[in-house]
Order: sequence, then C-alpha cells, then structure tokens
Amino acid sequence: MRRALIPALCSLALLACGGDRPKDAGAPQARQPEATVSIVYVTPAPRTPSPPPTPAPPKLCLLTRQSGVAATYVPPNLVTLPKAITAPDSSVQLRQDAADAVSRLIAAAREDGQVLVAVSGYRSYEYQAEVLRQEIRTYGEERARKQVAEPGHSEHQLGVALDIAPARRPFDLEEAFGDTPEGRWVALHAPEFGFVISYPQGKEAITGYIYEPWHVRYVGLEVAQQMTGAAFTLNEYLPRNGMAACPPDATVERQPVASR
Ligand SMILES: [Zn+2]
Repeated sequence: MRRALIPALCSLALLACGGDRPKDAGAPQARQPEATVSIVYVTPAPRTPSPPPTPAPPKLCLLTRQSGVAATYVPPNLVTLPKAITAPDSSVQLRQDAADAVSRLIAAAREDGQVLVAVSGYRSYEYQAEVLRQEIRTYGEERARKQVAEPGHSEHQLGVALDIAPARRPFDLEEAFGDTPEGRWVALHAPEFGFVISYPQGKEAITGYIYEPWHVRYVGLEVAQQMTGAAFTLNEYLPRNGMAACPPDATVERQPVASR
C-alpha cells in the first residue's frame, strides 16, 4: 500500500523522490514549499516482519535475587560516557537519562573538590555471567554469590546503575569507600541528581546484598528524594508505590551460573 502512494505524491508535490524535477513549461511560478512530511512514504517497507522486541521493564522495576529480567533484555538509548569522567581504559555505557545525570553529578562533585569517575555501567547478561565467574575464582563460591548478582538479576543490566569511585583509586570498590571524602559526598549529594545507593549499610537483610557505597542507581529526582527522606531502600519503596517486580514477560527464573 505504501509503495503505491509514491508516484502520486511525487507528482503532486515535486518531492525529492530520487528523480529530477520536471522542467518548467511556462512562466516562472512561485516556488512550492517542500512537503517534508511525504518522506514517510518513500521509506521501503521491511521485507520480513521484525521479531517482537523483548518487553522493556519499567525504569523502576525491582530486581532481586529472586526476580530478574530476560537474558535478551538490552535497555534503550544507551550512550557511552565521555572518557573525561570514566576510569582509565574503561568504556562505560548508560541510558541517556542516567548518563546526563551522572555527568552533572561528577561535575558538581569536582566543584566541591571531590574527583569521581564512573567505573562500570551497563552490563549485558553474558558479561554479568563472566563477572560472577571471575569473582568465584577470586573469592570462592559463597562470598562471590553474596557480593555479585546472578546474570539477569543485576541492576547493571538495566543501564541505569553504575559503580562510581575516586579518580585517585578507581578500581578499589570496597566498603571503605563510604568513609572517604568522595564516598561521603556521594552518599550526601547523589539524591540531588536522582541517584540512590541501592545497597545501603545496615540493610543487607532487606536488599540481599552487602553494603556497596559505590553502586548507585538512577531513579529520577523525585523518587530519589522521597526515598532519602524516608530512608527507604528500593526494596521497600517500590512495593509501597506499586512498582515492585519487573513485568512477568520480562523476567526470568533464577539460573545460577556454575563456576568453571
Ligand atoms: Zn555495581
């Protein structure tokens, strides 16, 4: 149906349809405005229907050790952060809104004398599986599974969570970060930019993860400030606000990764 419209539209509006304009036969005429809307009709229709996209979980769905997102889920609008605000030799991707917000956060921290860098952002399902295998090799099964999410259950797969660290020691992601000037700045000011610490100190029984002062998730300004005011974790805030689990069609059952 769309192809049939092309000749008619071209002759009516003298559009840029791939051919030359016809020569004027008579006196000069007033120039017709380009009808840019018609460009819709010259786009060839795909030959085969695209497979339906994996349903996207809402930005604020809750990932836990029990419920996660599909292995195929890739967030939309991923962008790469500028090198100036990432750890050396690191390529950090985030959703556009989270990337914009963390750029503002890092700039504000620098104005306050705290130099922060983004260390790790979006991780695919496969990459998270590799991270877990590495941790198991380094720390053993029990400790690794306490501190690293199973693939499909990591907030990093949503593209809105990142690990942030002092530029002077970017690869030391440890509890002690919370007691550094940079860590204290993050805890105090992150909500002003729409970020929360997903796994706060003293909330391990609720979140299921050890304290991670370096891991922040973008939830938007309003939610971040409400959560901070109430001292809620995401595990507490989201169910109270009807945003508990990711939709069933975007979730997967827990599939532990074996060490190898
Ligand atoms: Zn993290």
